[in-house]
Amino acid sequence: MRILIKNGRVIDPKNNLDAELDVFISDGKIQEIAKSLDYSADKIIDAKGLVVTPGLIDMQVHTREPGREDKETLETASLAAIAGGITSFVAMPNTSPVADNQSVIEFIIKRSKELNLVNIYPTGSITKREEGKMLSEINELKNSGAIAITDDGVDVQDEGLLKRAMQYAKTCDMLLMSHCETDTLTEDGVMHEGWVSTQLGLPGTPASSEDLAVQKNLILAEETGARIHLLHNSTKGAVNAIALAKTKGVNVTAEVSVQHFSLTDEECFGYNTNAKMYPPLRSNEHLEAIQKAIQDNVIDVFTTDHAPHIEPDKLKPFAYAAFGSTGLETSFAVANTYLVEKNIVSLPDIIRKMTIAPAQILRIDKGHLSVGADADIAIFDISKKWIVNPSKSLSKGKNCAFNDKELTGKCKYTIIGGEIKMQDEKIV
Ligand SMILES: [Zn+2]
Repeated sequence: MRILIKNGRVIDPKNNLDAELDVFISDGKIQEIAKSLDYSADKIIDAKGLVVTPGLIDMQVHTREPGREDKETLETASLAAIAGGITSFVAMPNTSPVADNQSVIEFIIKRSKELNLVNIYPTGSITKREEGKMLSEINELKNSGAIAITDDGVDVQDEGLLKRAMQYAKTCDMLLMSHCETDTLTEDGVMHEGWVSTQLGLPGTPASSEDLAVQKNLILAEETGARIHLLHNSTKGAVNAIALAKTKGVNVTAEVSVQHFSLTDEECFGYNTNAKMYPPLRSNEHLEAIQKAIQDNVIDVFTTDHAPHIEPDKLKPFAYAAFGSTGLETSFAVANTYLVEKNIVSLPDIIRKMTIAPAQILRIDKGHLSVGADADIAIFDISKKWIVNPSKSLSKGKNCAFNDKELTGKCKYTIIGGEIKMQDEKIV
């Protein structure tokens, strides 16, 4: 298919591009980007007034398949991703069974090829069944196609085991991604420990649970030389420690989920279980530190930490409800609304953190619009206002922390491998 995108504002941070240009695509690749291109095409997209970017890359998605297809499947997660302009995502290993062996990794790769929707990159678990007791066969995971190892959902509590995992990861040249949490400090906490948790009478998780685990990971990464990525950072202590480690040359990258730069623990008032997640939404002091860390590039990447649940898992008293928020359909709009519109960072900066920055960490040739690159493209109307309506979500999980909130910015077209997957906000 030959596609010509006309007169859009093309933003490609990798190539320092931000100008009104045309993009010509054929054979699944980007053929030319210039002013006033004149090609015969099967489809011409008038992108006047719209923003054309590399397809977004999400480094943290819980697809629930295999095992909990009632919550989400690789197919429904892919459709939700397309609706949000996400053309590639990393699937976390906390499925059932856990992706701790070759067969689960191969299943995900095969299933995503059959679906032919978005590019899905599976991860393998650091430890068998994510139990934190015995290491998975890291080399086997790598050879079967896992892009990284992580015990996301939990953290490896045993420092000796984590150090060995980092040593193996280094030997195999594998990225290790850590969910930073200290179990003995979290205990039965269900939200951020602070003024709001006291008001609500709910047990809190202190920031120290995350701070200590981040320090542990940084110290071991420095000692082993492993390449690590810290998932969903949410505290002032975490970003301060990462900033220092980066100045020392530790091989670390860091992300924040879009929830954690936009919302605070005050969302939990009314016992709103869609605001229950791990790490918890923090107080304003932490939110401000996270936003500063985004400006300073201490935070490299934005993710969704997309965590779909069935309704009964959230329709419970707050203390018993499941942790997590969906996010694939809203992440760009949240970043645009809470960071760009509030003049905290620029539009090219948020696009960088959702395209080329994750691609470079994952070492995949995605997230840019160079000539010859895969034609994975998103086209956004950055001024469109809309209200997040769970009944319209393509994800099986309706548990979005932004439900009923007004956001600005919506994806209109998603193109993957040169095929139009969404047109005028409708899945093709
Ligand atoms: Zn996690």
